[in-house]
Parts: sequence; C-alpha cells; structure tokens
Amino acid sequence: MAYFTVIVAVLVLVNTYPLIMTQDMMFQSKQTSMQGQVALLCNALPMTGRLTSEGVEQALNLEELNYSRLLVTDESGLILYDSGEESDLGRYALIEGVVSALRGNDVFFCEYRDGVFRSWAAAPVLTRGRVVGAVYLYGADESQGILLKEVQNNIQIISVVVCVLVMLISILLSRTFTKRIADLLRAIRIVREGRYSHRLEVTGKDELSQLGEEFNQLTGRLQTTEEARRRFVSDASHELKTPLASIKLLTDSILQEEMDPETTREFVEDIGEAADRLIHVSEDLLAINRLDGGQTGRTEPVDLAVVVKKSCHLLEPLALAAGVEILPKLQSSCMVLGHEGALSQIMLNLMENAIKYNLPEGTVQVTLWEEDEMVRVLVEDTGVGIPDEDLPHIFERFYRVDKARARDAGGTGLGLSIVWEAVQVHGGHISIEPAPEGGTRVQVQFPCWKKEIAL
Ligand code: ADP
Repeated sequence: MAYFTVIVAVLVLVNTYPLIMTQDMMFQSKQTSMQGQVALLCNALPMTGRLTSEGVEQALNLEELNYSRLLVTDESGLILYDSGEESDLGRYALIEGVVSALRGNDVFFCEYRDGVFRSWAAAPVLTRGRVVGAVYLYGADESQGILLKEVQNNIQIISVVVCVLVMLISILLSRTFTKRIADLLRAIRIVREGRYSHRLEVTGKDELSQLGEEFNQLTGRLQTTEEARRRFVSDASHELKTPLASIKLLTDSILQEEMDPETTREFVEDIGEAADRLIHVSEDLLAINRLDGGQTGRTEPVDLAVVVKKSCHLLEPLALAAGVEILPKLQSSCMVLGHEGALSQIMLNLMENAIKYNLPEGTVQVTLWEEDEMVRVLVEDTGVGIPDEDLPHIFERFYRVDKARARDAGGTGLGLSIVWEAVQVHGGHISIEPAPEGGTRVQVQFPCWKKEIAL
C-alpha cells in the first residue's frame, strides 16, 4: 500500500505539472505572436488624423495575417473593419479588449478550454499621441489544443498501465512475504510446543532468510540443551537409584532373614557405603548446580601455590594408600582472581583422579608456574591413561571411561565436569592429553592477578 500510494502521488504530479508548464509556454508564445501582429496592423493604418472604413480596408488588404477575426474601430468604438463572416460593421464594439485599448492600453488574454486555445489582443491606434481608434485581433487555435490533448491522453494511459503493474507487483511481493512470514510463525509455534527437531526450510539470502537461519540455529541450541538436560536428569536418577536400590535390598535382607551378627554388621557397613555414595553424588550435583547458576559469591585474589600445597597435603593419605607418590614443584605466590573453594575443588579433583587412575608405585607430578600473564598448573600422572576415543567426551557429565573401575574407585563421573565449569567461571582454559611416557597430563591456566593492575 505504501509503494502504491507513493507511485500514485508521483503519477498525479506527472499528469499535472508538465501540462500546466506546456500551457504556460503556449500562452507566452501566443502573446508574443498576437501582440506583434496587432502592432504591425497599427503601424499599417494611415496616420491621417481620422480613421475611415475605406482607408482601413485599403491598408489592411496588403497584410497577410494569421487570425480568426480582426476588428478595427475608431476612437468611439465604431467598427470600421470586421473580418468576421457575420460582419458587425457600423456597430459599436462594446467588448472588453476594445474598451481597454481605446483607453490607451495594450491588452492580451488567452485561455485553454475544451481542447481549444482562445486568445485575443488589442492595442490603441495613436496619431501624434492621441488615440484615434483600436485594433482587436481574436484567434481560436484548435491544432495545438489537439496536440496538448494527445499528450495528456498518452500520459494518462501510461499512468494507468504503471498503476496496474505496480499493483500486480505489490500483490505478488506481499503474497510471497506473507507466506514466508506465516511459515516462520508456524515453525515458531511448533518449536514452542516442544518439537525442537523442527527446522525451517530456508531459501534465498535476504533478511527473511537470515531470520530463518537464525531461528534454525536457535532451535538447534535449544535442542542440544534440552537433550543435555534430559540426559543429565536420567543419568542423575540412575546414579541415585543404584545406591538406593542396594540400601533397600540390604535392609530387606536384614529384616527378613535370620542373620548372624557378623553378616548383619557386614550388611550395615554396605548400607553405610551406599549412603556415602549418595552423599558424594548429591554434593557433586550441588557443586555443579552452584557453578552453573553462577552462585559462587565474590571473587578475591587467591594464591594458587597455597591452594595446591593444601590439596597435596589433603590427598597425602589417599596417595599413601594407593602407593602413589605426589611430586609438587611449585613457584611461590601465583595469584589469580577467583573463589578459593572452587579453585581447591579443581586441584583436588584433578589430583584425586591422578591418584585413583594411577598404577602402584606411580607418581603424580604437580607443577605450578607463571608465564605470559597466565598462571599454569600441570598435573601429570603415570597411570592407566585415557583412550583417544574417550578424550572428546571426558568433560561430559557422568562420563566414565571404565565404568566398573571408576565406580569402584568411588567416582561419580562428575569430577571433571565440575573442574570444567569451575575453570570457565574463572575465565581459564583446560586441556587434557596423554602424557608422553604413558598416563595423563592435564593443563589448566588462569589469567594472572597483579596488584598494580587491580589498583
Ligand atoms: P570420576 O568421578 O568417575 O573420576 P571424572 O569426571 O573425574 O569422574 O572422570 C571421568 C572419567 O575420566 C573417569 O571415570 C576416568 O575413567 C577418566 N579419568 C579421569 N582422570 C583420569 C586420569 N588422570 N587417568 C585416567 N583416567 C582418568
């Protein structure tokens, strides 16, 4: 409608302005030509004091003029010469042009009506500064009127054709756009109802196609997030269900069977282990939830060397039990901005894995240093290593390489996911790869905190 309105406005202008201009030009050319002819006639008349019919006729017979009617009057307006078919000779010419000319004025008038240009010009005949008569020339020009009318008709036809074309194109374009917008709306409704696998068919490269592409990408992300959420809920339920089922089984056995105190004690110990497992999984889930939701509290400058030393100290008993030696090599005072709790969780999880998945008499090398404005920690073990095909999934929630072994080692499959989330929260980066001499090497780096920068 907007296009259409603009086009109609332009066409109205095209239909009026040039015609008005052409008319004006015609009027001007007529004025020049008719007033020139009247002046010629005035000069041709005898300057003998009084004008007479015979004198005028004699003088005018010589002139070849282009007009419809010519009147010559004396000073009282009496017609002395009339070229019209019904001659008014001998009467008084009481018409505006003659009256005005007898008062000494040169006058001209022109109009365009019904396809005809009508114009008249009149001038006084002067003898020694005295008005002795008037010359009045009238012309009706049909040929130029017809020409103008033809131009007008042509412009009108072109305008109508343009209008119809614009209307057709507008309808066609708006139909195509409306259909594409309706498709997009339909797709949005389908996805809103939960069918995240639905995709919009995108063709072309215009803005609507880009919108469609964006919509498809957004839906893709929604689908991935939704799948991850479902998998997480199912894995978490499974993880909680296993120890709960064994607690149920063990308590049923204790209640139903006549059991000697030794076996009962063993069963109760198993129940305790299952409960520990439940606590462990719940704690890990809560930790992930805290990191995910950004509920880690205020950040503060933390010395990572202190954090790593504490973690080594805490894990000493576990290493001793596994027959593994921890070899720390720490640069003193490596400051990062973060949360002490989350940073120790990172170090504890990485070092615990390095001990748990190690071999007897193995080692865990922990190196901490500062380089290129980054604080780097390397945890390298001499353990079983992670197969190449498992490396891309290692940070996924509940992902375990060797399920039985990991469970036996008390793992929940959430340790590395917690590490990954915590590293992201600190704006850091983590990479995991096989160590050159067997085992696993994990490298974590965080932006370095400098007192002068903070100030
Ligand atoms: P878990 O709590 O089971 O240890 P993680 O998320 O910490 O879970 O680790 C995921 C899996 O990655 C583990 O089950 C284990 O198979 C493997 N893994 C992690 N760290 C190591 C390592 N240092 N050496 C060998 N395997 C490892």
